[in-house]
Amino acid sequence: MLKGDKIGPEYIVKLYNFRHNVRAFLVIDNTKRGPGKGGIRMTPAVSEEEVFRLARAMTLKNALANLPFGGAKSGIAFDPKKADVKTKKEIVTWFARALKPLSPSLYIAAPDVNMAEREVAWFVEANGSKKSATGKPKRLGGLPHELGSTGFGVAEAAKKALDFLGIPISEATVAIEGFGNVGVFAFKFLSEAGARIIAVSDSRGAILNKNGLQYRKVLSAKKKTGSVVNYEGADKIAGAGIFEVNCDVLIPAALPDVINEDNFEKVAAKIIIQGANIPIKEAIEKKLHKKGVLVIPDFVANAGGVISSYAEHKGLGEKKMWQIIERTIGENVAQILIAMKKTGKTPREIATEIAIGKISDGR
Ligand code: NAD
Repeated sequence: MLKGDKIGPEYIVKLYNFRHNVRAFLVIDNTKRGPGKGGIRMTPAVSEEEVFRLARAMTLKNALANLPFGGAKSGIAFDPKKADVKTKKEIVTWFARALKPLSPSLYIAAPDVNMAEREVAWFVEANGSKKSATGKPKRLGGLPHELGSTGFGVAEAAKKALDFLGIPISEATVAIEGFGNVGVFAFKFLSEAGARIIAVSDSRGAILNKNGLQYRKVLSAKKKTGSVVNYEGADKIAGAGIFEVNCDVLIPAALPDVINEDNFEKVAAKIIIQGANIPIKEAIEKKLHKKGVLVIPDFVANAGGVISSYAEHKGLGEKKMWQIIERTIGENVAQILIAMKKTGKTPREIATEIAIGKISDGR
């Protein structure tokens, strides 16, 4: 049983698909500020508990970013890599139809792991309302996540944290776990800003070159061979080695709980920017804080995606979207770091206090 609290969850929906033997979950954590907003994740091991933790992160994220949304998340426990596109579409269509009574009134979906604009289009078409999801393709009035809004916000958070530590971006080194939507664009925007990306990983392993990796070349290795490990001109290291790379900024941008009791002592980065959702449990974050590592939590750093969702929902254009992301994430990170210096609390504790204040106000 999930342990709720005064914030939520308000709704827990569990679904079962007999035809494909697939379970799915929707957790609407809190709707005080508006309909619950959060992506659909399709991974074999997704659980009710994981979906709840992600939904809570969305509640806090949306409040902190001043958006008129509550928090929610959904998960389909299925491995799309083991199935054809037709089966994946059938499952997404089934899921969308089953959620029709709640979406878009109380739940507005979005992309997440293994769910991109194509899948979101299937969801919206099965639901019948364009308001039921954001991250839609342009033809359906969307501002696709493929523009890189989340990675852009992650890069903004990194820039502010580097500023705070007095490290010039031109001297900063960065390691990134994951080369999907978030990792790719965090890489792109940080290297464009002058940082040196020295390591990156995907599900097949990691690569390291202290002199820096070239964005276009990594992209091409991934596109042509299916993995960053085939990049020419870097050392191959174990995937888990990415968390131990000696660098200024470490960006987990793929899986949950990757920095944990077993490896947190080996973290050598000065700053961790959480591109992924829930990559580190709070207790471990506290230990990292004690060790002097500056950790910017998920719901602060990766809000770019949901801000872009808001811009899409409101019919605002791309230019306005970039401006809101830059301003919101930049201001939030700066405010949190100043309060951290004053109080000694962790960035998560401070950000949570601010967000909960905004949920109670309902504004
Ligand atoms: P994605 O499916 O586009 O990419 C996931 C990446 O993770 C892929 O490169 C994959 O190779 C990599 N990966 C899988 N297993 C790995 C492993 N063992 N080691 C290293 N890399 C591995 O997903 P995404 O949209 O980039 O999302 C990543 C994370 O960011 C998730 O936690 C998601 O909830 C979060 N997030 C995404 C967005 C968004 O807009 N896409 C917004 C906020 C938060």
